[in-house]
Amino acid sequence: MTIRTGSCSCGSVTYRVSGEPKRVGICHCGDCRRESGSAFTFYGVWPQTAFETAGETAAYQGRRFCPACGARMFSLDEGEAEIKLGSLDPAPTGLTPTYELWVKRRESWLAPLAGAQQFVEDRI
Ligand SMILES: [Zn+2]
Ligand SMILES: [Zn+2]
Repeated sequence: MTIRTGSCSCGSVTYRVSGEPKRVGICHCGDCRRESGSAFTFYGVWPQTAFETAGETAAYQGRRFCPACGARMFSLDEGEAEIKLGSLDPAPTGLTPTYELWVKRRESWLAPLAGAQQFVEDRI
């Protein structure tokens, strides 16, 4: 089984996910823009049972981050672990998004990802 590991910038928080993600997406929504300070987030969703973490995290609206360095890493909700894939150790991750959310908030200079399902707002 594939094991992937990730960590925050300072290394206080680490995590691992086992197996392949249930889905991989990109989100351009206002919340993702603001919390990442970037144009979109790139994330993968695993069952929470496939997710383990070590080290203390803080949370804002369910989005967990390292209180020492501020790196955003994951949210745990409804039995799922949503991982911000930029926090995985290998870059590039080898994971490809199959859908994009909130494309109405996508920057005009950013093209739709070829082959990815497009949602104007949230997933239906
Ligand atoms: Zn840290
Ligand atoms: Zn979002």
